[in-house]
Amino acid sequence: MKVSVIGVLAVTLCGTSFAQGPQLPQQDRALARQIFKEFIETNSQDSNGSVTAVSVAARNELLKAGFAPADLILAGPNDRKQNLVVRYHGVPGSQLKPILIIGHEDVVEARRSDWTTDPYTLVEKDGYFYGRGTQDMKDGDADVVESFIRLKREGYVPDRDITLALTADEEGGKSNGVSWLVKNRPELMQAAFVINPDGEGPTLRDGKPTELDVEATQKTYADFHIVATNRGGHSSEPRPDNAIYELMHALLKLEASPFPVELNDVTRAQLEASEKVTTPQRAADIRGILQTPPDPAAVADFSKDPEDNAMLRTTCVATMLKGGHAPNALPGEADANVNCRILPGHSQEATRKTLIGIFDDPKLTVEYMADDGTLSPTAPNRESQPPPPLLAAVFDPLHQVAAELWPGMVVIPSMSVGASDSIYTMQAGIPSYGIGGAAIEYNDNRMHGRDERLSVDSYYKSVEFFYLYLKALTR
Ligand SMILES: [Zn+2]
Repeated sequence: MKVSVIGVLAVTLCGTSFAQGPQLPQQDRALARQIFKEFIETNSQDSNGSVTAVSVAARNELLKAGFAPADLILAGPNDRKQNLVVRYHGVPGSQLKPILIIGHEDVVEARRSDWTTDPYTLVEKDGYFYGRGTQDMKDGDADVVESFIRLKREGYVPDRDITLALTADEEGGKSNGVSWLVKNRPELMQAAFVINPDGEGPTLRDGKPTELDVEATQKTYADFHIVATNRGGHSSEPRPDNAIYELMHALLKLEASPFPVELNDVTRAQLEASEKVTTPQRAADIRGILQTPPDPAAVADFSKDPEDNAMLRTTCVATMLKGGHAPNALPGEADANVNCRILPGHSQEATRKTLIGIFDDPKLTVEYMADDGTLSPTAPNRESQPPPPLLAAVFDPLHQVAAELWPGMVVIPSMSVGASDSIYTMQAGIPSYGIGGAAIEYNDNRMHGRDERLSVDSYYKSVEFFYLYLKALTR
């Protein structure tokens, strides 16, 4: 295999250990650094930055490298939110659908006063690159842009087109680029599957890569507004129909009524892979859960960990509470917000009905609250996408490249309890997988936080990863 030969050459030339795997050539190291610096130093936060400026910087680099202007399309709803769609041409006449890579260019707001260094200056210090977007996710954007340039320089022709969409407003703002492109330029977004480097990269424990989580499906978010009302009255003569008590009884029932355990293809694979690398007790629980039907004792034990519990079931939890209007009056109204994270394949409305069943109190109202705060008596009835199959076309090349770069690391398909831009491509019916290349220590996740940083070695390795992975996907 060509790649292994390069690896062996690198060992001979640099005298490095074989465990380090293939190394990024010097020329690409320099270019990767320059592109990363340009991206980081272009402020793209929603309040006062420009996504367009990042798109233009990427476009200029690709133009310099010989990409045709017609393959570098700027498109978006307004001047500040222009997305860039790049087409890397495959073999002419290929019958294979393109591969689409999506990467958001915007970043979470960063305030200079919170940071040790200027968040919009790339600072290299003590083996780390510091700057807003070094972890989330200008590293991933730069990885793919640099790899496109390197592949083109090498004359590489993939077995099909590869599309890269660099987009706006994943973190906030009103102009989500993936959503906008799917709606307004669907012809650019056709794909057999999507790779989204916004996923986490390999997890390091004391410098050793242990696992790579691949986001293969997501939970759906929903807020419900629960209201108890009654006639109120004087607090010197308490009655049983107290709005606060009524609401609290309902919430205590919710606490005591976990949603049923339900595994899907992704969480099943996630458990199977985790079982091999976890503690003996947790491994035993996992084996119990994977039985049909699941062993209740194993489920109970496993569910004690909040993160593990969230993998097994839809969760709904009270997050806000208010009630009453005077210290000496019976409360005439009390309300709560219940936040749910719904398993794939279920609708928000079905979940609302389940809540009504749990509360079992016809006097309560259970309304759906949309993202913008508007309330409605029912929730959207559309079921979220069921998990996509774990395509061999995605996972086989991933296993191969991961074994080369991070020997001994386990690849774990996983369900995200949060949300990424993959939700829009999934809704468009395209199987989507969150795969990152930047290895981060398990306790050094600084996404959205202050002094965001990525180790210099991890960055260059992530560039090498995408170069190798894009080739492995398309040969
Ligand atoms: Zn992100």
